[in-house]
Amino acid sequence: MPNRLQEEPMSESLHGRMEQRLGERERDSALRDVQYPGALIDLSSNDYLGLSASAQLSTAVAEQAAAIRASGAGASRLLGGNYPMLSHLEDHAAAFHRAEAALFFSSGYAAQSGLIATLAKRGDTLLYDELVHASAHEGMRLSSAKCYPFAHNDLHCLRERAKDCSGQVFVLIESIYSMDGDLAPLHEIADICSEFGWNLLVDEAHAGGLAGHQGEGRVAELGLEEQVFARLITYGKAFGAAGGMVLGSALLRRYLINYCRPLIYSTGPLPLQVLMIREAYDLMAKASEERARVRELRRLLLRDLPRQFGAHGSTETDSPSAIVPIHCPGNEAVLALSAKLAQRGFDVKAVRSPSVPAGAERLRCCLHAFNTPAEISRFIGALKEEVRPSSMV
Ligand code: PMP
Repeated sequence: MPNRLQEEPMSESLHGRMEQRLGERERDSALRDVQYPGALIDLSSNDYLGLSASAQLSTAVAEQAAAIRASGAGASRLLGGNYPMLSHLEDHAAAFHRAEAALFFSSGYAAQSGLIATLAKRGDTLLYDELVHASAHEGMRLSSAKCYPFAHNDLHCLRERAKDCSGQVFVLIESIYSMDGDLAPLHEIADICSEFGWNLLVDEAHAGGLAGHQGEGRVAELGLEEQVFARLITYGKAFGAAGGMVLGSALLRRYLINYCRPLIYSTGPLPLQVLMIREAYDLMAKASEERARVRELRRLLLRDLPRQFGAHGSTETDSPSAIVPIHCPGNEAVLALSAKLAQRGFDVKAVRSPSVPAGAERLRCCLHAFNTPAEISRFIGALKEEVRPSSMV
């Protein structure tokens, strides 16, 4: 009798599969790698207020660090890894963003994916803006609910989705979009959700620290707290740290503590991280001048940017958004432009497909309180010189 194993086709080796997939990325000019930022002018990080390198922040943290008795949480929060400083941070965040309750996660990604996967069950419906972040997609992948996209910021398309809905309906949006830097029509979407009885989840990753008088985010700025079921604040951007906070009702907090797997099965955060975020809140809230500077740089950039670069995304000149996409279709073209700008001293990252749809490749230009008007003028000059007219149409 032939050996059954011998009759089966040889499966590809794992090594071969990985090499092949990396080769595909290379062929598409889409290979990724980790790099050191280098000493270039930063037009790429999400450190919008410069807090990650703030001497004031590190001094404040260092002064209090000696009083911290444990360097690690030691366990998940439910098994002894909880501590008062962490609960105080959550209380502070809830009060600051005007929510009933807050729950901390070690990253925004874990918070968002965990929140969505825990809330949306079989028979429910997830309606998502086509541009929501990978962490929202991860949550949808982990959920058994039906998922339907709607065209970016398109209220008509969102309404049209009502016919596809059953069970509890969740609408996923970002208040400031991470790649296009534009704003969601929050009032209008909140009204649609109220009209249909849908639950609105708003990712404020790029609005926290920038939008609102004290950086409280767009939901609180617009007074929409009551119409939003849950919000996500992340600490790796304008707060200069790392971590994510879900804001919502006390009931939601209790529910997540009982059912949200990334919270239940993951070690609690480092006390130093929590201390840093708490200190960052104080500096960030006072950073009105820095927020105004980012807004001013945005006005400058959009005023002087040649029009052909702005075909995608954010064109609002008066906006808290620090992100300006600079349209440059094609992976090779956008990589080459980013490399040329690096030679001229600017760190501005190429965002390629598949991170964005093919044809929507762009430089993702991020503005910071530490950038200067002179840098922005030089950047625009460099852009104009690097792009020949034929490739600018
Ligand atoms: N949402 C958005 C819109 C983001 O841009 C990011 C980070 N790139 C996240 C969520 C995840 O946040 P974190 O970096 O804290 O995991």
